[in-house]
Amino acid sequence: MRLANLIGRATIVVDGRAIDVHRASDGELSADPMMMCDLANHSALRGLALNATASDWPLLEPAQLGAPVPRPGKGFGVALNYRQHALESGRPLPTEPHLFGKSQNCVVGPFDEIIVPVGCESVDYEAELVIVFGRTCKNVQRDDAWSVLAGVTCGQDVSDRAEQHRPPVKQFTIAKSYDSFGPVGPYLVTQDDLANRDALPMQCRIGGEVLQTTNTSDLIFDVPALVEWVTRYITFEPGDLLWTGTPGGVGEARNPQRFLRAGDVVETDIEGIGCMRNPVVSR
Ligand code: ZN
Repeated sequence: MRLANLIGRATIVVDGRAIDVHRASDGELSADPMMMCDLANHSALRGLALNATASDWPLLEPAQLGAPVPRPGKGFGVALNYRQHALESGRPLPTEPHLFGKSQNCVVGPFDEIIVPVGCESVDYEAELVIVFGRTCKNVQRDDAWSVLAGVTCGQDVSDRAEQHRPPVKQFTIAKSYDSFGPVGPYLVTQDDLANRDALPMQCRIGGEVLQTTNTSDLIFDVPALVEWVTRYITFEPGDLLWTGTPGGVGEARNPQRFLRAGDVVETDIEGIGCMRNPVVSR
């Protein structure tokens, strides 16, 4: 099942058509896209998808898509979760996940602008798989991990490197939480829609140039390991987000370095989910 936020409304995408959840359910289901994150609603959504005549509904206009999870209760990112990125960062491979916060204000849609503050010359891209929690959960064992997830989506973990590395203490959370630094989308894809949920090819491109390419099977801590680890300490709720980490090829580690500038269009593409296209502006 592919779920979307179309002009602020919960939407099921079937054959390129946009089925409005609230209208298709005769008002029984909420129009709020956050309802799509709750696994308790998924059987009703599947029922709507099965019973709807797709051709009765309008063609989906991708430019109108917002973040499929517009108001996550909380969001975290995982640092150094691909071997190649840990090596290019000059850091030892982690023996446990390293987490930082990404606040709700940074979340924007799959075609929204990434805003580089004026004078900020070290803003970097990070293509990532983002997992979306689907039920209230704590102490989840790795074998049960996928069963607590509503699905997955593409994400960018945009990062201001100067702030992130500013001495004396690294500041990951603020450097990765500026307004617009957390694009997600275009769809919330449930795992039954994925050929292999543990091995998704992913790319980041700017102006057609491939800057990052990987497969999520290369994650150091895979999705089950991450879910088991984070829920050991924190209760997760439907709609909470976890950015699972970025592969090698970030702008900071390139020679010469390649940071985001106005006019760039950042494409974040995960096979089976879709492609975000976020234009970069400066203001
Ligand atoms: Zn990241």
